[in-house]
Amino acid sequence: MKKILITGGAGFIGSHLCERLLHEGNEVICLDNYFTGTKENIIHLLENPYFELVRHDVTAPYYAEVDQIYNLACPASPVHYQYNPIKTIKTSVMGAINMLGLAKRVKARILQASTSEVYGDPEVHPQPESYWGNVNTIGPRSCYDEGKRCAETLFMDYHTQNNVDIKIIRIFNTYGPNMNPHDGRVVSNFIVQALKGEDITIFGDGSQTRSFQYVDDLIEGTVRMMNSEKGFTGPVNLGNQGEFTMLQLAQTVLDITGSKSKLIHLPLPKDDPQQRKPDTSLAYAKLNGWESKVKLEDGLKKTISYFDKLLKNEH
Ligand code: NAD
Ligand code: UDP
Repeated sequence: MKKILITGGAGFIGSHLCERLLHEGNEVICLDNYFTGTKENIIHLLENPYFELVRHDVTAPYYAEVDQIYNLACPASPVHYQYNPIKTIKTSVMGAINMLGLAKRVKARILQASTSEVYGDPEVHPQPESYWGNVNTIGPRSCYDEGKRCAETLFMDYHTQNNVDIKIIRIFNTYGPNMNPHDGRVVSNFIVQALKGEDITIFGDGSQTRSFQYVDDLIEGTVRMMNSEKGFTGPVNLGNQGEFTMLQLAQTVLDITGSKSKLIHLPLPKDDPQQRKPDTSLAYAKLNGWESKVKLEDGLKKTISYFDKLLKNEH
């Protein structure tokens, strides 16, 4: 049994990770400030005596004797991370410093949830880990992108300077149950709009692409990375190989839900990446043949059924 700290544990991905690690017989501390996460996501875990919930902000130091730290705390949707950009960059940078300091003191292994956003609007396609990216330092997405890039740098410097045992994953667009219905990300937006019969909001002409990964695949890759051979620090891409335009995504959601919602076009947000798809050969080689396997249609069906229940309960 390991003692594991998960920052951002009440969020979408964090809540799945809490569940998985408890299920494997570990003791889990879930730390969150509830900015975008919610107790609803982990309420069913509260009766487990090996689960501990802590309200805390990672921009302040935190002390606990743990064996592993998954550092996930950070708003992930453009709407939320742009709401208070200074806080977003503080969360990534100060959060990384505080958690790395803790890892150093207690000699814990620590994993950083980085992002495909470190590649910005990529000029290399698909994106391998060796690509340095094309990122605007002063745009609306910079607080998130540059915060995450700086966190990667901090992780690597604590590793080389202080021998901290680090792991870095770069997560590509991930979706599934426990996403916040008001999150603003494309999958949850389209599903909620389709289920409510509201217009589906396509930003720009809808030709931009993303690769969508179902959360179960991500959790498997994340846990494999945390437990991978010592010295393999990453960064390693975790994402799905399928690549879809936003128009294709909207049509698939309409087909599965049978919704009569209409597609409308809204302006494309500034610096919105035109294309994104991971090269996952490193993950395959280093993480025991890991691949993101769930097909978009299958993952969407599960996610739609989650939102359907959630919206009915709201009524
Ligand atoms: P989320 O918004 O659901 O979860 C983030 C969690 O962090 C929330 O529970 C939030 O309340 C918490 N949090 C935010 N600021 C905090 C702070 N200062 N102190 C403590 N807690 C704080 O988003 P998610 O999709 O679950 O993302 C989890 C992590 O994975 C994030 O670091 C995100 O950048 C990264 N990521 C996610 C995706 C994706 O597609 N979902 C892609 C790339 C990277
Ligand atoms: N998008 C969209 N309609 C929406 C929300 C998002 O067309 O209601 C587009 C957005 O412009 C982007 C893509 O969907 O091109 C993915 O957006 P998301 O915010 O989910 O993630 P990210 O841009 O960070 O990959």
